[in-house]
Amino acid sequence: MTNPLLTPWDTPHALPPFDAIKDADFAPAVEAALSEARGNIAAIADNPDAPTFDNTVAALELAEATLGRVLGVFYGVAGADSNPAREALQRDFSPLLSAFGSEVTANAALFARIEDLWTRRDDLDLSEEQARVLMLSRRGFVRQGAQLTGTAADRLRDVKSRLAVLGTQFTQNLLADERDWFMPLAEEDLVGLPDFVIDAARAAGEAGDHGGPVVTLSRSLIVPCLQFSPRRDLRQRAYAAWTARGMNGGATDNRALAAETLALRGERAKLLGYDSFADYKLETEMAGTPGAVRDLLMQVWAPAKASAEADAEKLTALLHADGIAGPLEPWDWRYYSEKRRQAEHDLDEAALKPYLQLDRMIEASFACATRLFGLQFEPFDGPVYHPDVRLWNVTRDGKHIAVFVGDYFARASKRSGAWCMAMRSQQKLAGDVQPIVVNVCNFAKPAAGKPALLSYDDARTLFHEFGHALHQMLSDVTYESISGTSVARDFVELPSQLYEHWLEVPAVLSEFAVHAETGAPMPQDMLDRMLNAATYDMGFQTVEYIASALVDLEFHAGPPPADPMQRQAEILGDLGLPHAIGMRHATPHFAHVFAGDGYSSGYYSYMWSEVMDADAFAAFEEAGDPFDPALAQRLEQTVLSSGGSVDAAALYQQFRGRMPGVEALLKGRGLAA
Ligand SMILES: [Zn+2]
Repeated sequence: MTNPLLTPWDTPHALPPFDAIKDADFAPAVEAALSEARGNIAAIADNPDAPTFDNTVAALELAEATLGRVLGVFYGVAGADSNPAREALQRDFSPLLSAFGSEVTANAALFARIEDLWTRRDDLDLSEEQARVLMLSRRGFVRQGAQLTGTAADRLRDVKSRLAVLGTQFTQNLLADERDWFMPLAEEDLVGLPDFVIDAARAAGEAGDHGGPVVTLSRSLIVPCLQFSPRRDLRQRAYAAWTARGMNGGATDNRALAAETLALRGERAKLLGYDSFADYKLETEMAGTPGAVRDLLMQVWAPAKASAEADAEKLTALLHADGIAGPLEPWDWRYYSEKRRQAEHDLDEAALKPYLQLDRMIEASFACATRLFGLQFEPFDGPVYHPDVRLWNVTRDGKHIAVFVGDYFARASKRSGAWCMAMRSQQKLAGDVQPIVVNVCNFAKPAAGKPALLSYDDARTLFHEFGHALHQMLSDVTYESISGTSVARDFVELPSQLYEHWLEVPAVLSEFAVHAETGAPMPQDMLDRMLNAATYDMGFQTVEYIASALVDLEFHAGPPPADPMQRQAEILGDLGLPHAIGMRHATPHFAHVFAGDGYSSGYYSYMWSEVMDADAFAAFEEAGDPFDPALAQRLEQTVLSSGGSVDAAALYQQFRGRMPGVEALLKGRGLAA
């Protein structure tokens, strides 16, 4: 029997032959692909010829081609359409692949060839893209410790493995605290809560066998409770429990783990030759240095704090009107803010939905790409991994550009959230390879014969993921390692968040946001309320976010604090955090930072990207045309087609003629003076 994952794909646009692939094919295909990759890498490392770019760096680019092809299919279906067999395979593959990755970066002969090329780089006559790929490849090895030997190498290995244990422990402690706490609600405690909260409280009570409705620390229950419960005493108890996660003493307390994690990260950075862990982490980011991150956050801090303080006065007045004396407390903010929102911005979601049909929003996202970049989208039939999946052939001037795959509906086999992945990435080293790009969402599937309807958040998500898809589809580079979205983490959300702005263009909404039954465009008042709702309570949201982002940064930018809680208090004290606002995530439950190091000294990056998307779209506003052809062309030539072939800051400068400023973000968040 031949394995369909390993044979050429004779399908439309060489799509994976999903109808022929069985779950039992994955493990043998991964095994074969890993052994092929190991053989290729050994051949490169042991090549008797002197190193050249082609026989070393370019050869490495191609060494894992089969593995990439098999895993692209596997992780595509494992995320979007899982089953117990695929979950078991994921558990099996993860240690195999991480061991393989470590083996490659620890291959001394291989690194010696790369280092040799690096020292001779100015004499190699490399193209700009080749020089970039060499730099990134070497940097990847160095950052994993390839230059260390002896006790330093041993110590780095020990530090990394202890950090992995600490990250897992942190997560498990947090889950235990979230699982253990509950607050029983008597029937009279339910008064004033909306039906959906009461239903959720009853369901949680039944699930936990508590004999009645309860509030748990699940975000989907505790946040609505803080938002809607008129009972101040209950809100206070709920808020205290919510903010005490990870610091309840005993076996699940995370404070000592946080201190040890920060100390070991500092040591890891020192072993690798960096001043601090933040210097190490930010080296690969567009921000580059802790100072640049601090500057950005502090520029937004003052206007955000001013806006939050003005809001706090309005909310305090509502509190006093309820006959409660004294200051507004953190457990009051969401409740009074919700009251104010209902009075000022009430938006009837049920009346809005018929105007946001999934199919019209897909058309809208395509129509914008046609106007901006000349892309055409033609549906076609081909092999798919689930009957809900739809395929489009993407062309420009008759030339095939990509296959776009849309998988929009929620189902039990799909993980939550929304994402974009390339099942095949664009590159030119192995021939002119066109990408297969998938957008996965979790929109509610309608009853048969009814149109699928979206919330405004859903529609934004659709545009967001399509922005990532454009970054993959318009990619025009030679080397796969820098293709499409293979860019710095604080740059990768620029194309996606930028694309969300086209949904807000009045001409787009008036053409595509039309009523499912009558075909009438959305009434102006509803449209205004919908757009205004997006910036409501931004002072609060910005303040709680920046407080967390700055604590994350300062923890990693200086010497590791012996007592992180004390350091956190100092940082917040210096900032002057308003009394009624807490951190979005405090240290003992800051999973972004302590569950692993993915977002450590990186929590700022959400705002970094938002600064850029607001500033980039402002270029179109300044041009007076959201579809300005010259700007659209420049956006493609710089940001969207270059992948990681050029430094992110340089790409942005090429597009905008300068680095981004915070003015457009402040305006977009309603924080401008
Ligand atoms: Zn995104």
